Amino acid sequence: ATPTAVMVATGVGASNGVLIKGGDALERAQKVMYVIFDKTGTLTQGKATVTTTKVFNEMPRGDFLKLVASAEASSEHPLAKAIVEYARHFHFLDEPVDATSRKDSTISGWLYDVDDFSVLPGRGVRCFIRGKQVLVGNRKLMAENGIIIPDNVENFVVALEESAITGILVASNSEIIGVVGVADPLKREAAVVVKGLEKMGVTPVMVTGDNWRTAKAVAKEVGIQDVRAEVMPAGKAEVVRLFQKDGSIVAMVGDGINDSPALAAADVGMAIGAGTDIAIEAADYVLMRNNLEDVIMAIDLSRKTFARIR
Ligand code: ADP
Ligand code: MG
Repeated sequence: ATPTAVMVATGVGASNGVLIKGGDALERAQKVMYVIFDKTGTLTQGKATVTTTKVFNEMPRGDFLKLVASAEASSEHPLAKAIVEYARHFHFLDEPVDATSRKDSTISGWLYDVDDFSVLPGRGVRCFIRGKQVLVGNRKLMAENGIIIPDNVENFVVALEESAITGILVASNSEIIGVVGVADPLKREAAVVVKGLEKMGVTPVMVTGDNWRTAKAVAKEVGIQDVRAEVMPAGKAEVVRLFQKDGSIVAMVGDGINDSPALAAADVGMAIGAGTDIAIEAADYVLMRNNLEDVIMAIDLSRKTFARIR
């Protein structure tokens, strides 16, 4: 392709909300054999909502939610945001306040004070509330902290996971006290894009830090056969390298901080425009419309631009 053709293609991309960072990236996209999709926020809307809460001790539901929301309030994770949002609604429905104070009330106004807060990427959060250690996250987080998951809790979580819901475990004082179920629906176009890629001879793959059962249920819904779950943030780049081993050209599509090493490792990194700045920086393509159809558009554009010279 001539420099002019590359410029034209870049312009066509830009006018469709696909920002291409350079001619090399544009050229590589035509040869993509695998597209690895992050799950949360990429295949899914990233607008998680709480579907269930279950308390396994005598704590009133409102107190439980306040505790969990307090622990999650400083986290940027979509799951954390969903929990805080839900707890806020629950709180203000429970304790009627007048319209003005409701409008002014900030999260910090009604949540517990939190000490020693830390984010554990791919696992959850940990902090201290009223002198007790509070953990909110997945099984790995509990295992790392020596917390045993009783059978009734495990069964409850498995049932959620089998219906594509992520079960978030909550522990206080080294005991599981409850579970929050969070669902994150697929983007409307996700399944059509997966089919479209297959028609183009491109194999779609899903990678996620989420658990195997939820991951498989979501993959089934979207029509992806090849799933890699319970992958730690650093492991996503490893998955990319695995697919590159035989010389295959690999695209990665992601939105999160935890996707940026994989976006950088991929031959073609595509960041969702609504994603985090770090992901956008690491990528070769930015999909500004947040529409997965643009993954197909980007590959098509590259194929058409470079077809003539082959
Ligand atoms: P993904 O790869 O799907 O974007 P992450 O790597 O961010 O997922 O997280 C993997 C898993 O770790 C989540 O599915 C959840 O179980 C747990 N987790 C991560 N952050 C949090 C959080 N702030 N609160 C609760 N659970 C979390
Ligand atoms: Mg994500």
